[in-house]
Amino acid sequence: MAAQPKILDGKWLSAQICSHIGAEVAKYQQRVGRAPGLGVILVGDNPASQTYVANKEKTAKKCGFNTFDARLPASSSAKEVLAAIEKFNADPNVDGILLQLPLPAGIDSGPLIESIRPDKDADGLHPVNQGLLMRGAGVLRPCTPLGSMKLIDLAYSPVTPSETSTLGELPQADLAGKSVVVIGRSVLVGKPVGLLALERNATVTMAHSKTKDLPALCRSADILIVAVGIPQLVKGDWVADGAVVIDVGINRLPSGKLVGDVDFESVAPRCSAITPVPGGVGPMTIAMLILNTLRSFKTRHALA
Ligand code: NAD
Repeated sequence: MAAQPKILDGKWLSAQICSHIGAEVAKYQQRVGRAPGLGVILVGDNPASQTYVANKEKTAKKCGFNTFDARLPASSSAKEVLAAIEKFNADPNVDGILLQLPLPAGIDSGPLIESIRPDKDADGLHPVNQGLLMRGAGVLRPCTPLGSMKLIDLAYSPVTPSETSTLGELPQADLAGKSVVVIGRSVLVGKPVGLLALERNATVTMAHSKTKDLPALCRSADILIVAVGIPQLVKGDWVADGAVVIDVGINRLPSGKLVGDVDFESVAPRCSAITPVPGGVGPMTIAMLILNTLRSFKTRHALA
């Protein structure tokens, strides 16, 4: 295979999507009299969560959104977190609610996610939205899977990310007849991304920790999506020539370096397109959070 795969630059793609969202927000703000609002709940002082939340709020503001903060100490009770959610549920200026995970030990995230109004569920993790996804319906899809699908669309589009290239409409890639292998079956990433690929007529195989001969299965994939959490698990000889590889993993090595679940050095020369880590799926997850909030705003105001 060509030694120069297309690098699926999530930073570039998310910036393009955010600029489209910003233009829509400017247009709708005049009609509705307010910008979309994102309510952000951060409990505790986990440094990684603080960075994620700061990046999400920065991107939301860049797109012209209003942001509303609820910062709670790590000692908060589930009841106090619930009160912050209910305040945003009732606030007409809040269209999307982000409850940053993980929550401090001792607080069960499940019932709290379920207490978010499904139509304000910017992360797409509420059971109602998960059920709608299962049916191939609904508008709020989980962010990381949705962002991964947009990177697959980029892989098959003629557009190449560069400093000077801009994106018009990103057409949906035709995945009919394509074989998609997903490694990882989490509720957050693996299962929903498998459903999204299935919805697009791909033939999907879900692999996990109990799968036999994972390398051979991976070699059968036209598109390989990896969401495991093991640094550089997928090696070059696991990947078919010309495959598209989406690396969802984010792992910090003892040296401090961030790497994905894919060994980029050995895999990249074999594939036609691959996401970098960092700068691939991560920024797309943020862009999809903003997109979901815009969708919720548009639904609320019956905007086309
Ligand atoms: P998880 O721990 O919930 O799920 C991991 C999955 O991997 C499980 O289904 C398990 O069966 C499977 N698995 C474990 N060991 C395996 C092995 N040896 N072979 C095959 N499968 C194996 O993790 P998650 O929440 O899905 O996250 C996965 C990775 O993606 C993590 O590195 C996480 O940090 C990253 N992540 C990134 C983003 C982003 O925005 N880029 C978002 C969410 C998660």
